[in-house]
Amino acid sequence: MPAYLDHAASTPVRPEAAAAALPFLTDLHGNPTAAHAWGRQARRALDDARDDLAEVLGARPGEVVFTSGGTEADNQAIAGVLAARGGVAVCSAIEHHAVLEPVERSGGRVVRVDHRGTIDLDALRDALDPGVTVVSVMLANNEIGVLQRLDEVVEIVRIHAPGAVVHTDAVQAFPWIDVADAAAAADLVSVSAHKFGGLKGSGALVVRPGAAVAPILRGGGQERDRRSGTPNVVGAVAMAAAARATHDHRKATVERVSALRDRLADGLLAAVPDAVETAVAGGDRSRKVAGSLHLCVPGVESEALLFLLDQAGVAASAAASCASGALDPSHVLAALGCDRALAGGSLRLSLGWNTTAADVDLALQVVPAAVARLRAAGVPR
Ligand code: PLP
Repeated sequence: MPAYLDHAASTPVRPEAAAAALPFLTDLHGNPTAAHAWGRQARRALDDARDDLAEVLGARPGEVVFTSGGTEADNQAIAGVLAARGGVAVCSAIEHHAVLEPVERSGGRVVRVDHRGTIDLDALRDALDPGVTVVSVMLANNEIGVLQRLDEVVEIVRIHAPGAVVHTDAVQAFPWIDVADAAAAADLVSVSAHKFGGLKGSGALVVRPGAAVAPILRGGGQERDRRSGTPNVVGAVAMAAAARATHDHRKATVERVSALRDRLADGLLAAVPDAVETAVAGGDRSRKVAGSLHLCVPGVESEALLFLLDQAGVAASAAASCASGALDPSHVLAALGCDRALAGGSLRLSLGWNTTAADVDLALQVVPAAVARLRAAGVPR
């Protein structure tokens, strides 16, 4: 059996989500804005999905805006605040491009992180002033899995940029931590369904009362005028079911998967002793999400390594997935101060809700063998 260890890119659809989605792929095709019976049924399903998602996110139903995924939610947060209020956007240097690009393109400020990926709170203070209107700091990073202390970030923002709203990208955090609690102090929260067992192309932005966010999609005025476009009913219904299942099983999943991740990490570090575990010192993985393992392997090239792993049935990745599949140098590793040559040998193995011990066993066999083969072949760097 092959081992799928790329859950941070996209995790398999949970059975609960597939079951919830099925009727909306067959009989229940109405547009939720229509007045007839089909429309009313779709509307009810959308309302129920909103209620369920709101509950697990610690929000009120009216605060949930359905989007086409994490990218739209992130863009909406940054561009929406800037469109509503102007001012300056600030984010951390390891944000997903869906945050980083809108911030940089608007002439915003990017705050450095330390070598373990934690935002530098002094640098954050320096970047803030009353002209800042939105600050975005992710809960968990997609490449290296590092968690931020959002409460400390919010405290600093409230003092040094009192008019700013705080956005957090919780896309990678939701499978592993209780976002209702961890993001309680944030004004805007992004999630994406396909990272926790829902369908690709659906997500949500939580908009707390008082956070002024202008729509970026204008048209029919759906989502209470905050996001026009016919709602993706099947996506929302599946997302709510996946969110509920994730929430209900989270504690057990985290316990099980973190033990698998630790076994994988320790085994690979023993087999490839010069590999460096990114953003982890002394084996302390307590500031990382349970499913994340990131290594830099000296003397090998990620692309070649991933090719061999794929051939041997292990699906992994080097960094963030991107449309071209090209392995550009990672802005996250650069922000950590990671040596460029070492970063060229980066390997992300991300575990998820259905990862098994057999997946880990296969990776423990295949990864060291692939590294040894590349080194023996002297693949040029
Ligand atoms: N934010 C983070 C942290 C992500 O990992 C991703 C996806 O990789 C996104 C945003 C974008 O989400 P989506 O794929 O739903 O557009």
